[in-house]
This record gives sequence, C-alpha cells and structure tokens, in this order.
Amino acid sequence: MTKKVAKNKTSVPVLTSPYHDMIVLQEELIVRDPKTKEEICYINAKLLDKQKAWDNLEKIKKLHVQKFTTIKAMEKATDLFKIRAYSDTVTQIEFKLQDAWGFPRNASFHRFWQLPHCRCPKMDNEDAYGTMFNFINVLCPVHKKTEVDNDDSK
Ligand SMILES: [Zn+2]
Repeated sequence: MTKKVAKNKTSVPVLTSPYHDMIVLQEELIVRDPKTKEEICYINAKLLDKQKAWDNLEKIKKLHVQKFTTIKAMEKATDLFKIRAYSDTVTQIEFKLQDAWGFPRNASFHRFWQLPHCRCPKMDNEDAYGTMFNFINVLCPVHKKTEVDNDDSK
C-alpha cells in the first residue's frame, strides 16, 4: 500500500511504499514530453505496488514517451503504409509495456481505437475492452484488412 505523505521538509509531495525502499517524488510518476515538458500521463503508484513493478518505473516511463512520439508522428502521416507501420510500432510498445508491468502480453488491453486516423467504433470497443471482442470498421484506414495483410490472427 502506498501512503501519501502530504508534506515533507521541502513540501514536495512524496510517496513511500513498502514495495520499494526509496522515496519517490510524485513528479517522478509524471511522464512528460521531452520536448515541451507537457504532461503525457501519470503512472499509477498503486498499480506499481500491486504488480511489484517499481524497478521498471523508468522503463515504463520511457515506453510511454516512445508511444507518445510514435502517435504524434502517426498523426502527421498521410501515407497509408506509414500510418500502418506506426500502428504496428504502437502495438509493439504496448506489448513491451505489458512486459514491464508484469502483465501477460494481451492485445485485448490495447486501446487501438484511440490511434490517429482510426475510424473504428470507439464506444463499442471501449465497452468490449479487455474481452476478446473488438469492432473494426471495414473503412478504417488503420485496421481494415487489405491485400497486404497475410495473417488472420486479428
Ligand atoms: Zn481502426
């Protein structure tokens, strides 16, 4: 269990946890864009406890930055081939994140419908999140089947 310490000597919010022997500044749990310093996401300390993943915190943050920069590049891409290559890169990063968190690799927990250019139904997929079901729009440029696909595993 993580205890939130409201104040320490320097009034910087810190977290202490029996699962790691260090004091972590809350700031260290924020993932930022290396260029703009804009906040990308926040790493869940309770989940780090639960998964005993504190040793992988830096790895997890790095992967989130990679995912963020890949998605940014994907937003700007117009070439379908590149868009799909970025999508594959994101999938690989999601798998590495699952490794780093100590979760089994499972594409059912990838929010593929949040990718740029995706036209798959968001609410249906959100409802089916974590199940083996997903909803693909046959017109989605990212996820529709094309002649370049040669596997039917999705
Ligand atoms: Zn899609």
